[in-house]
Amino acid sequence: MTSTDDLLARHKAVLPSWMPLYYAEPLEIVSGSGRHVTCSDGRTYLDFFGGVLTTMVGYDIPEITEAVERQLRTGVAHTSTLYLIRAQVELAEKIARLSGIPDARVFFTNSGTEANEAALLMATNHRRSNQILAVRNSYHGRSYAAMGITGHRGWSSSSLNPLQVSWLHSGDRLRGLLSRLGSDEQVDAAVDDLREVLATQTAGDVAALIAEPVQGVGGFVAGPDGLFGALKKVLDETGILLISDEVQTGWGRTGEHFWGYQAHGVVPDLLTFAKGVGNGFALAGVVGRADVVNNVPAISFSTFGGNPISTAAGNAVVDYVLDNDLQGNAARVGAILRDDLQAQIGDNPIVGEIRGRGLMLAVEFVQPGTTVPDVPATVRVFEACRAGGLLVGKGGLYNNVIRMGPALTLTEEEAREALNILVNAIRETSAA
Ligand code: PMP
Repeated sequence: MTSTDDLLARHKAVLPSWMPLYYAEPLEIVSGSGRHVTCSDGRTYLDFFGGVLTTMVGYDIPEITEAVERQLRTGVAHTSTLYLIRAQVELAEKIARLSGIPDARVFFTNSGTEANEAALLMATNHRRSNQILAVRNSYHGRSYAAMGITGHRGWSSSSLNPLQVSWLHSGDRLRGLLSRLGSDEQVDAAVDDLREVLATQTAGDVAALIAEPVQGVGGFVAGPDGLFGALKKVLDETGILLISDEVQTGWGRTGEHFWGYQAHGVVPDLLTFAKGVGNGFALAGVVGRADVVNNVPAISFSTFGGNPISTAAGNAVVDYVLDNDLQGNAARVGAILRDDLQAQIGDNPIVGEIRGRGLMLAVEFVQPGTTVPDVPATVRVFEACRAGGLLVGKGGLYNNVIRMGPALTLTEEEAREALNILVNAIRETSAA
């Protein structure tokens, strides 16, 4: 038995049965450098998933390691929010400024789930209502409330929802009510849908609409640009808040914009962030309108939220993203990847759609000539990528989507290397 086999057996014996592992032969990542990881099978892989879009600037980045080491050397890893934390205040100032929300306040948490939970608490208190609008095919986390607003059966098993949730249609272009429409018609139909949902399924005093600008777990599905701007006009008629879940779309990942919401000509009332901002350290939070954020009736405390280590990392990550124009790099390298993918496999019969923007790109697999999801083909492509030396993600409502979210420092050469592996994997699978 190899040491990885042994670890897998122990994992299965002690961790919950519902925790999935990628690959028929699961991988243990033992070290990383730049966009590459070395695994316990002795191989080095080009990492195009970054622990679900979380290793945002790459592995072993000296500026980040040094910032964290400097804090560790003070001997203080933790103080709690009962004390002033310099790195926390500095990072909050940066995020408030970058958020685009006037007079913003920032509350730090340890995970995206907790950030969404806090945003829901703020919105429901501000509006004195527990009614929430959420989007089908969404993913927002694994607490009661976050699962309650997750429109994805595989991730949302709770029947004990603390919120009253009404569901809007997603921007899926292959399936669903809005799929057969052009962009303008899709916006008009979504606005009609929102008005109808408000009139038929709510008592009118809804707290908030929460949405991902690009649905991450849902397979990088996005509605047309301008969609949330059009919906916000309806929300504004009665003061319903907009919460943008930017856990996957923030920090320049989508290339054209720093936040996903900026594609929609709208500024949200609250925005949640997580994943990439810590480049692996547990760092997340909510940024939003002061009147909404401040309006939480109970005094709130967090043991680890905004701790000195993760906010030291966060400051170094945000500076790195801005100083090196990683948003610009995501736009440039992402466009090469997307255009080349489209040119090389756009008309392959098992490819239903190539979508996404910046360095958030997906390929959806279908049975030839249909929109019927092809999960076996997806698994074959996924495993063939690994065999070729490329780690990608899987996802989508039907688990038939390959997701790519490499570090924003990805080079053109690395993009072309990944492209070759992925294109070969798709051609081999399609020919089989
Ligand atoms: N929101 C979105 C859009 C996410 O993709 C995720 C994680 N996949 C979460 C929230 C939850 O974040 P976490 O896993 O840090 O709790």
